[in-house]
Amino acid sequence: MSADQSEREDESLAYVCKICQKRFQHSSALGGHKSKAHPGQSKAYNHKKKVRETRELERELHRHTMRLYQESLMESEGQANG
Ligand SMILES: [Zn+2]
Repeated sequence: MSADQSEREDESLAYVCKICQKRFQHSSALGGHKSKAHPGQSKAYNHKKKVRETRELERELHRHTMRLYQESLMESEGQANG
């Protein structure tokens, strides 16, 4: 059982990189590490990614809605004729 030592070390390194779990003493050090080691993982990048995903979702939803609309049109046409 040698977990005590590593636990004590972790306390001074309070800032953890969420991407690679590396630990840092200061938030500025963590920030510098992130921009250097994970340049594609910044907030702006994540935001862009989210926007793109949302846009794709909206397109999918639109397609689905249009299909439902067309189906309901066909249905009402059929009722009118019948
Ligand atoms: Zn990292």
